[in-house]
Amino acid sequence: MYTFPDRKGRSLTLRPEGTASVARAYVEHNLQAGPRPLKTYYIGPMFRYERPQAGRYRQHQQIGAELIGASGPGADFEMVTLLVDLFTSAGLTGLRVLLNSVGDAACRPNFTAALRDYLHGHLEQLTEDMKRQLEMNPLRILDSKDPRAKALVEGMPDIRDHLCDACREHHRTVRTLLEEAGVAVEEAPRLVRGLDYYTRTVFEVQHGGLGAQSALGGGGRYDRLIEEVGGPSVPAVGFSTGVERTLLALESEGVALPAEDSPEVAIVVAGGDRERRAALLLARRLRRRFRTEVDLLGRGLGRQMKGANKLGARLVVLVGEGELESGHWTVKTMESGEQASVADAELETRLTAMVGGGEDS
Ligand code: AMP
Repeated sequence: MYTFPDRKGRSLTLRPEGTASVARAYVEHNLQAGPRPLKTYYIGPMFRYERPQAGRYRQHQQIGAELIGASGPGADFEMVTLLVDLFTSAGLTGLRVLLNSVGDAACRPNFTAALRDYLHGHLEQLTEDMKRQLEMNPLRILDSKDPRAKALVEGMPDIRDHLCDACREHHRTVRTLLEEAGVAVEEAPRLVRGLDYYTRTVFEVQHGGLGAQSALGGGGRYDRLIEEVGGPSVPAVGFSTGVERTLLALESEGVALPAEDSPEVAIVVAGGDRERRAALLLARRLRRRFRTEVDLLGRGLGRQMKGANKLGARLVVLVGEGELESGHWTVKTMESGEQASVADAELETRLTAMVGGGEDS
């Protein structure tokens, strides 16, 4: 987190991301005593002190997930596919999945040393920012977006030449698994992501419709973070994604989000008080299983049908005198207009089948 005085001198502390908070919560609440691996997620606002532009804001919403307590490449595979599946299930297509390994405590120091050597040989090409990073964390210079650094970055040592056997094998397995799952991955040897705590796997999902801010989400493995914040040595891997950028990507592809709150069942009443009371009771019963609407305005049959249509209801259950007498409900499928007469005892079962039979479920 970072702390600064606002214009009135009040001290503000804001969080830029969620992973460190999850790691601290894990330690503070002794979560290693719980199920292993532990699967967590968060959704909430994050704050960055950056120059705002399209897709980059000072406050944005993130969705993140962390898998804590599994060191094998299968865990990395699950997190990358979870992130990709999140986007594809929302309807996105133009995705690029970038994958890299930043090594571990055994091999990263060799790479960092090689990088420092190289950069020391090109000091005159470094910006002031880079000179500072050269001492603090030269890895960050790798994914520098500074156009002045482009030529410099192209000549930098390649991390793949410095990975130890264990890291190389881990990386290879993650990539193979992803390929077997049909996820097209691109090797991205310059991808390090901003944070210092990553070990081995780092990944990013990019989208072409976002302009300069092309990263839709990303994450990586952080096997030493929990220990660093005072906990036991527990491996972990996670990701986060920005809601606003995801919406921008959806917009650029012209994808409308499915209206998940439209009712599955609309109950339509034909009749008087007795039928209206029966409809209310039926609605209460059906709500245990279905998103259900029922008329509360005393509207006529035609207006109720129009209302059900407008709400996008999949099925209409008619409650009239005939239905109450016979103990059979009339169920209409809105899309096809087909009607069926369904015995009361079978209503839920039949509605479940009919709701599931729609084209987009
Ligand atoms: P990061 O932790 O920087 O990798 O951010 C994870 C995701 O959050 C990014 O891929 C973006 O989708 C989103 N994100 C990060 N920073 C911003 C920002 N300043 N404005 C909007 N979205 C952001």
